[in-house]
Amino acid sequence: MTDAPEIRIGQGFDIHPFSVDPARPMILGGVTFEGFGPGLAGHSDADVVAHAVTDALLGAAGLGDIGSHFPDTDPDLEGADSIELLRKAAASVRALGWEPQNADCSVVLDAPKLAERRGDMEARLSDALGAPVTVKGKRPEGIGSLGRHEGIACWAVALVSQAHG
Ligand SMILES: [Zn+2]
Repeated sequence: MTDAPEIRIGQGFDIHPFSVDPARPMILGGVTFEGFGPGLAGHSDADVVAHAVTDALLGAAGLGDIGSHFPDTDPDLEGADSIELLRKAAASVRALGWEPQNADCSVVLDAPKLAERRGDMEARLSDALGAPVTVKGKRPEGIGSLGRHEGIACWAVALVSQAHG
């Protein structure tokens, strides 16, 4: 048990309500769901999946949360591409000597259907993280605000290990 790399896990959660603007695009895991609207409301592109993964990653490295790195009061972040925020967060994590190993997320929603775009979402998230990201969809079974289609929530975990220097 010598020289075993230190590993850390982080957990992230995010939730966004649906927008009242019918023209608002639906973006999940960096993928735009054409023809599905309205999308989610938020200061950035409201990509609830990218946000949960980013929070899990930052938590794993002890770097706080997404709001402290990318505040929703920053006018430069209005409509921001959240995949790029994840990419920046991954760079910050690496700068501290941690290497992302993987992330996994559960998206709770009835619609849009994720199955056809799951591979695209995983590819975009994995590219931004620089490590495998897996995505699972889970129905809310009619329970609570998510079951009433008021928004979409996502839970994520991320693992990082000490980079060998
Ligand atoms: Zn968010």
